[in-house]
Amino acid sequence: MGELNTFPVSYKVQGQRIVIIGGGEEALNKARLVSKTTALVVIVSRNIEADFSELPVTVLARPFEDADLVDAALVFVADHGPDGDAAKRAARARRIPLNVVDVPEECDFYTPSIIDRAPVTIAVATEGDAPVLARLIRARIEAALSPNLGALAKLAGSMRDKVAALLPGTRARRYYEELVTSPEVEVALLRGQGAVKAESLLAQHGAEGDSPGVVWLIGAGPGAEDLLTLRAQRLLQEADVIVHDHLVPAAAVEMGRRDAERILVGKQKGHHSFTQAEINALIVRLGKAGKRVARLKGGDPMVFGRAGEEIDALKAAGIAYHIVPGVTSALAAAADTATPVTLRRISTGFVLATAHGAESEELKHWAALASTGLTLALYMGKSVAGPTAARLIAEGASANIPVGVVVRAGRKDRVLYRGTLGTLASGTIELEDGPAIIFVGEAIAHGDWSEAIELASSEFKVA
Ligand code: SAH
Repeated sequence: MGELNTFPVSYKVQGQRIVIIGGGEEALNKARLVSKTTALVVIVSRNIEADFSELPVTVLARPFEDADLVDAALVFVADHGPDGDAAKRAARARRIPLNVVDVPEECDFYTPSIIDRAPVTIAVATEGDAPVLARLIRARIEAALSPNLGALAKLAGSMRDKVAALLPGTRARRYYEELVTSPEVEVALLRGQGAVKAESLLAQHGAEGDSPGVVWLIGAGPGAEDLLTLRAQRLLQEADVIVHDHLVPAAAVEMGRRDAERILVGKQKGHHSFTQAEINALIVRLGKAGKRVARLKGGDPMVFGRAGEEIDALKAAGIAYHIVPGVTSALAAAADTATPVTLRRISTGFVLATAHGAESEELKHWAALASTGLTLALYMGKSVAGPTAARLIAEGASANIPVGVVVRAGRKDRVLYRGTLGTLASGTIELEDGPAIIFVGEAIAHGDWSEAIELASSEFKVA
């Protein structure tokens, strides 16, 4: 269940009346708003005080009559006397949606702030909670939108039949995308050449035939929607299909087009997830079908993201692909804790490694790196954190090397732990749920881990 108590719709009023009861400023404000429509706007009041002469409205300076509501699509009451009361009763009896100005309890609907680029309308509504905020948002959107937006929308509308006859679904959408975003079309429109340009663009799209599919391997960052790159955001909007992992933030998946297909391919512990071979086959099949596929991965796609296998499969099938980097979780963890992973005279390098399934040889190698000051970031290592630390010590790393763990890096609900290789090795650790990065190295001591839970504390059962 959602949280909205109201639902925005575009309500037809053409050929009908919008009736406003009242003759003061409030009535004038509503009249201004609704006279943007093609409805017949009628003002009814015994006391016409405001100046309606600038607006295309009909003013009836007399008491309200029930018949005023014949063919009315909407009724506004801005009269707190008997005429207002009579109009409210009449509107309810006729089941005409009613707005009683400044009395939210009596309203069937509210009026949003409107950005009018007819036929394009953008409505900003706050369910009456913060009209001032709605106006500020409106001003920002106004500033960002071309004044030609309406003309552009009309142009797109005028091409509908021709496009439908020439181009199938996906290709039609690409045509419209180019039509409404191309600067050349906008220039042509200003010169009164919009229709000619729209036609020539259509001919071009018609001649091109089916465009081949493409797969974008996109990094979605560590889980905060504002750590997504602008490029990722743009490509998500263009994608026909979004294939995503479990760790990808829902907000990023939401960013795609509403009608884009979304496929969750795992990987969550304990749930069925696609095998890597199935994922490879899926993106190849979609690419062959001419789809534009956003393959969204947590963090950066090239870091423990199985991107290598997916790229090989795409290459073998001759499908175009591009990589869009993302913020890898170790760097989000470094940011969360103000830890410089390289630091003059302390740490001359930064190693991304996985503790999962690490062999003795690798552990020996990392122990040597950590001993020379390099910062290790261990991925997928939470469940084996203690044993991994113990093995690093056994391979010669000092038990005093600082360790820091960030669970859910980059997110508001992150949790930090700090200690040393020794304290990590000695505890039967129950770290919080969620993905974690384990840092090992002297540079950790130079970060800000003041919120961190101490690994040595009694919260951990020492084995
Ligand atoms: N491509 C991803 C890594 C995928 S492997 C990236 O660049 O971040 C999955 C591992 O990444 C997890 O086991 C965990 O170690 C790490 N990880 C992913 N998201 C994380 C997050 N928000 N916080 C901490 N670690 C995370």
